[in-house]
Amino acid sequence: MYDYDLLVVGSANADLVIGVERRPGAGETVLGSDLALHPGGKGANQAVAAARLGARTALLARVGDDAHGRLLLDSQRDAGVDTVGVLVGGAPTGVALITVDPSGDNSIVVSPGANGRLAPEDIRSATSLLHVSRVVSAQLEIPLETVVEVVRRLPEGTRFVLNPSPPRPLPEEVLAACDPLIVNEHEARVIVGGDLEGTPEDWARALLVLGPRSVVVTLGAEGALVASASAEGSTRVPSVKVEAVDTTGAGDAFTAALAWKLGTGAELAGAAAYAARVGAAAVTKAGAQVSFPTAEEVAAL
Ligand code: ATP
Repeated sequence: MYDYDLLVVGSANADLVIGVERRPGAGETVLGSDLALHPGGKGANQAVAAARLGARTALLARVGDDAHGRLLLDSQRDAGVDTVGVLVGGAPTGVALITVDPSGDNSIVVSPGANGRLAPEDIRSATSLLHVSRVVSAQLEIPLETVVEVVRRLPEGTRFVLNPSPPRPLPEEVLAACDPLIVNEHEARVIVGGDLEGTPEDWARALLVLGPRSVVVTLGAEGALVASASAEGSTRVPSVKVEAVDTTGAGDAFTAALAWKLGTGAELAGAAAYAARVGAAAVTKAGAQVSFPTAEEVAAL
């Protein structure tokens, strides 16, 4: 009945990375390493992560009619993602300009470009994709009104998963659709909109009051915590002990794995436990999309 296990609605960026001895100050020019160009953006990352696990995945996004856009389309197709929903044109492809110093600290400038032009009317035109997808996931690197339109067009019975990154306060209708809302500590603080006090269990309770059907709090090397509006209390999901090399994209891999597993009928804690294994595998390799594991690699962890 469903053509896709997961439809990801979100951003696609070209990440332009240069290593520097020292990040430049105002008015300063420094020489850096050769340029590294990687496909990125939270939407594109999630789609690749899910497809690599074996999920039938489609991406609904917008890229520019330029070389970066073609790079992103190629990387999606190489991973097995259906790009039928990727719109081309309207603005240059989104870009993240990243400088990294030897200590690993970075400075990043993001030009949203085409991501910022993924409009509510694009969602209306792609409503048929929503109807053939078991689970829909989104993030906030596209306009919030576009995410609102996704929620309004969501067919009965289709599950919606949101990672509100970069975080901003969310309208009630978006919060009410989330099952789950997936946040790290920083995102939880912004969504709650005040002091985030106590333990992650307390944060989950504060988030549930805002209306989502369920909540997942990711805690890096500490794993995650899940809580649901329909049940008392919350459940800790342990992490898998690994040698962390690069945590870039761990959150995207976790979210994609969780969204996919929920669609296969797994309950929330079980899906989060699997997602924690996927997140852990992703931190054992450098980079974002290149670090995402296959199902076999997750099983071998
Ligand atoms: P991102 O930096 O991609 O935005 P995030 O803050 O959204 O990440 P994290 O909590 O860092 O998300 O990571 C997501 C999940 O990946 C964690 O809940 C955990 O299960 C797993 N994970 C992350 N870092 C580690 C680690 N060092 N060791 C084991 N598992 C990890």
